[in-house]
Amino acid sequence: MIDLRSDTITQPTTDMKSAMMHARVGDDVFGEDPTINALEEKSAAYFGMEAGIFCPSGTMTNQIAIRIHTEPQTEVICDKRSHIYLYEGGGVAYNSMASVRLLDGDRGRITAEMVADNINNPDDIHAPVTKLVSLENTMNKGGGCYYDFREIEKMSSLCRENGLKFHLDGARLFNALVASGDDPKKYGQHFNTISICLSKGLGCPVGSVLLGSKEEIKKARRIRKVLGGGMRQAGFLAAAGIYALDHHIERLAKDHLRAKVLGKVLIEQPYVESVLAVDTNIVIFTLANKVLAVEFVARLKDIGILAVTFGKHDVRFVTHLDFTDDQLEQVIKLLSNLSL
Ligand SMILES: *Cc1c(COP(=O)(O)O)cnc(C)c1O
Repeated sequence: MIDLRSDTITQPTTDMKSAMMHARVGDDVFGEDPTINALEEKSAAYFGMEAGIFCPSGTMTNQIAIRIHTEPQTEVICDKRSHIYLYEGGGVAYNSMASVRLLDGDRGRITAEMVADNINNPDDIHAPVTKLVSLENTMNKGGGCYYDFREIEKMSSLCRENGLKFHLDGARLFNALVASGDDPKKYGQHFNTISICLSKGLGCPVGSVLLGSKEEIKKARRIRKVLGGGMRQAGFLAAAGIYALDHHIERLAKDHLRAKVLGKVLIEQPYVESVLAVDTNIVIFTLANKVLAVEFVARLKDIGILAVTFGKHDVRFVTHLDFTDDQLEQVIKLLSNLSL
């Protein structure tokens, strides 16, 4: 089976496992795990931010950030395709008792102008108080597209002028950085908090880090505790993160190249109507003749390819660390010989 369902399905490499097995660990709830402390410092430094906190998932880092920046009766502005809205179990309402203002950006990328038009008048008691703008980069539902940094700069100024906080769901931020060549420190300057996932393109078995100011990360520790995310000798997991930051960032360019090839092959197939532009490691395509995605994905499984449905007629492929050039050649053959 060639697995293109997600970049979360990867196995730790031999060298990563060796780094994990040799990690020095301690009780992180006491702040005494040297490897977790090192990972938090290393990832904060990478983005030029003050502090970081290691968490079991990206859902937890996003939800903690939203909890820090909002309070009941306030509102979060984000795109309608956002992971924080679609795929975190209603967590914004459940954990933070905040409402969500959904915008419809270009493949999920919203603009400063759109945000400006959706900030509520803080003196109007009918409306929730706008508190937070949350972006996602790369944008999963938008087919892995990424922001032009100039738009991020505009939004960060707008947030500052209006007393709003600015959060980034950077589950695949490293893909955006590699594809755009942007400086990670610029991200650190413009966002209050950034969530990065180690378990996606970087190929770790578990983990995300929330980055922010010392004060915000101190608050985050209290919230992580109440969510049950205080882990003990989790330095074994953090060691994988340190290894990945050192060895698995630049190689993302290979995933992007392979995804682009897949996009080109797909668009030539009679059973494909359209393919979203491939910018990083995600390929989303729409099937021709109203073929159902569930049926198509079942068909792919029969010929040895795993993929996920991404809408009634849409399918998603994600390239990753365990998807090789040999597998790419095989997939190209299988897709080209496939008739529906
Ligand atoms: C995967 C992902 C997350 C976090 O997911 P977890 O499975 O909770 O780690 C957050 N945002 C985006 C865009 C993602 O793709």
